Amino acid sequence: MVSVILHRLGLLAFFSLSQRLLDPLLYVILSILRSIRRLMTICQDEAMSIVRLACQFDGTRPFGPASTLKRYLSILGWQIHPDASLSGPEHFGVSLMDDSCDWICKVFRQAWPHFLITNLNRKGTGDFIPHHSLTARVFASFPPEEQSLLIRNAVGGFQIAATQKMWDSDTPITCPLCGLEDSRSHRCLECIPLAEVRNRHPDAIAILQSERPDWVFIPLAHSSPDAIVQRAFLKTIKFDYDLPQLDVGSKITLYTDGGATNPCDAEARLAS
Ligand SMILES: [Zn+2]
Repeated sequence: MVSVILHRLGLLAFFSLSQRLLDPLLYVILSILRSIRRLMTICQDEAMSIVRLACQFDGTRPFGPASTLKRYLSILGWQIHPDASLSGPEHFGVSLMDDSCDWICKVFRQAWPHFLITNLNRKGTGDFIPHHSLTARVFASFPPEEQSLLIRNAVGGFQIAATQKMWDSDTPITCPLCGLEDSRSHRCLECIPLAEVRNRHPDAIAILQSERPDWVFIPLAHSSPDAIVQRAFLKTIKFDYDLPQLDVGSKITLYTDGGATNPCDAEARLAS
């Protein structure tokens, strides 16, 4: 079993660093799901027997591949069903029978921040769902030395005096620069000796003060609040229409007005 507790802060670093770097737990789960999906294509009976075994397991100590899959899914807040469908938090869902490996992996990557955020006890998290791909894209746009500073900030590498006091009783909880009570918002927004730095970045300070106060604690892009509603809406659509029979060689032209909500956000984009 992959440890969930030990790499809690590492979860965040993995999340922030790259669109390609995967958390070990997510990597293992995706490998299992891809294997079952491929087995579904070449030997469906065998694949469905694994699904049935996983569905029947209700313990906490797995003893084989199917029970391990069930346990991993439980950790992430997902359920597996006898029809080989998987349902997750916030209306995420896939089918090991019908969906492609790429789609299954994409959905699990999108759902991963939900697990991440419920396993973090950090100020600045909990009121929003982080946007994985957008965070990684913005992060990659910074030069390497600034990326290093951002990562240290995200994983708690810069400790204020009050945090250091928790493991070193001799550390005073006052700011070493000005002597006032120390906190992350004090350092970012209030500390007088750092005013010259703030004056160079008025737009960033305005965002921290009014639009994204949680970025004082942890700078992650937010998912659109529309995304959850849209996923719930899409689940209600049935694809069992009587579609017209079309000849293979015939040309089909589809028209759309091109309108969409959240057009720049692939996870929340919905064409009208
Ligand atoms: Zn200060």
